[in-house]
Amino acid sequence: MSESFGPFARGAANTTYAQYFTGQSYLNMLTKDGLLIGNVTFEPECRNHWHIHHAGKGGGQILLCTAGRGWYQEWGKPARELHKGDVVVIPAGIKHWHGAAKDRWFVHLAIEIPGENARTEWLEPVIDADYNQLP
Ligand code: MN
Repeated sequence: MSESFGPFARGAANTTYAQYFTGQSYLNMLTKDGLLIGNVTFEPECRNHWHIHHAGKGGGQILLCTAGRGWYQEWGKPARELHKGDVVVIPAGIKHWHGAAKDRWFVHLAIEIPGENARTEWLEPVIDADYNQLP
């Protein structure tokens, strides 16, 4: 499978963060100049684990959706369905996950918002039974 979805090249298998993902993803770092911007491609059923973008000040993450169908969910809230053109602003300190729908590839740009001592805390996987309830 070498096809790219959306305007940016798919990149290589996401080995850097594979341990924090369920399923297969691909990562193409588009730039590290000033902002960290990565093109993340999720195959169907692939999603990342619950995680929190921490920062003392500022921080968080912005997702710009470019192709396919996916999901974003904050802890304790219903999942939000995502399509091309959707923007997700994730404040620092919010526990969440993002990934593909069951039946579709999904691609977003992930932009790290600069922050003081910014870091990501990776938590437990999304429970299969919860994910599988999503349409
Ligand atoms: Mn995130």
